[in-house]
Amino acid sequence: MEIVRRPQLKSTAIDRGVPTLPLYRSAPSLEVRLEDFELYAIDRLRVLTGISDGLSRGKRPEEMEKLVAELWKANMRHPQASEVMNKDIISHFVLRLVYCRTEDLRKWFLSMETALFRYRFRLQTAEAQRAVLAEFQLPYKAVTTSEFEVIKDKLTLVARSINQTLPTADAIFYKVPFQEVPELVAGRRVFLSDGYAYVAMNQVVSLVATQFRSLLSKALTLTNRKWMSTIREQEKDRLTPIVEALSTSYVGPDYSVGREFGEVSLKDIDNVAKSSFPLCMRHLFDKLREDHHLKHWGRMQLGLFLKGVGLKLDDALAFWKAEFSQKVGAERFDKEYAYSIRHNYGKEGKRVDYTPYSCQKIISLTPSVGDHHGCPYRHFSEENIRAALCKMGVNSGGVEDVMDKVRHKHYQLACTLTFEAIHGCPNDAGINHPNQYFSDSQKILKSKVKCLRISFLLTSVIDLEFPPISTVHSLHP
Ligand code: SF4
Repeated sequence: MEIVRRPQLKSTAIDRGVPTLPLYRSAPSLEVRLEDFELYAIDRLRVLTGISDGLSRGKRPEEMEKLVAELWKANMRHPQASEVMNKDIISHFVLRLVYCRTEDLRKWFLSMETALFRYRFRLQTAEAQRAVLAEFQLPYKAVTTSEFEVIKDKLTLVARSINQTLPTADAIFYKVPFQEVPELVAGRRVFLSDGYAYVAMNQVVSLVATQFRSLLSKALTLTNRKWMSTIREQEKDRLTPIVEALSTSYVGPDYSVGREFGEVSLKDIDNVAKSSFPLCMRHLFDKLREDHHLKHWGRMQLGLFLKGVGLKLDDALAFWKAEFSQKVGAERFDKEYAYSIRHNYGKEGKRVDYTPYSCQKIISLTPSVGDHHGCPYRHFSEENIRAALCKMGVNSGGVEDVMDKVRHKHYQLACTLTFEAIHGCPNDAGINHPNQYFSDSQKILKSKVKCLRISFLLTSVIDLEFPPISTVHSLHP
């Protein structure tokens, strides 16, 4: 794949006869504009993070199928129909480069791409599915008619037990070594005999997903070797910075300016911290109030978040000064710390308006001893998370649900469950950004206040129209 700055692509994958569901066996010889290199990858990342969220929420296969179809439609379109396949292939190879670099990244990418492949395969027509099967060149033979007659009763029993349509004489079954379809075996969804599993045509997805996973796993290891030995150095001025930024890039709305709820003033800040800050920010906020100091990354994480919730520069300076001057004195604060706060607001240095950190970025940080930044769900001990959750008002059942997600390393989902437990209502989109947590929380709290006001007004009107009995008596002696 050649990266160019010229605004053109040479040929489409469809022109070259690639089936509609590519297996990404080798990088295509396409010319790719540098902007597309990054934009396509971000679009695919949106699909993969959506799948990750759906899986961690325990969605059923039919729900996942629907979700994948929606995510694909929303993110992987292209104004030119002929470029849709190219976008699919290019974005996969860019993310392969991005996610080959560490064991954790490889594991995540492998799982999400395999899930994506599985649900896309299920959405294909029978003809397209057969084309994919042929492309894999699987060595399995379909069961012959005479063989089928011998095992027909057993196949019928299995089909009945899993609520599938009963096999007829023209049904196609594949005889596959049982270890190649572990999930069908584990789910008792196939008939087993002499070390072979008899896989129905509608179960073939399991077979192709295993093959796809194994191909991609090998490819990721090879890509990692190439990345470490040559690409990283060769591309250090052009692609490497893009690739390194992509694995922590945030693909949701921009929270760099706290527009939605106007300003958060200094007098309200303690109240909103208690009601609407996610755990990461609440921890930093409490530590700042307690120690009157935060190290660099803590100041960055909390400072940019506060900018995103609408704290004006003057208020931010007053807020940090009030705390820091108790520890280092006002003069030292003005000399050493005020600059970086103005810098965050784009008033110093390159005058860039810096963006608040996303969950992905915060989770990937590695705090050292004495640091308080990072995501508590990832970096706290189990005991400390439990204590923090109790302090936030999560009940014991809710704490166990959150801890379950933490143990499975679903940190954003743990945060989403905390949000739901505290606010008493679902957050279907899931938490992807601390400022999203804040804005979702404020929306709910403001709508609750509105409801209370309306019900108070209604009560007043009813009270006026229908005075209590004692009042009626006093009006009519
Ligand atoms: Fe903060 Fe995101 Fe972690 Fe929640 S999941 S605590 S918002 S970093």
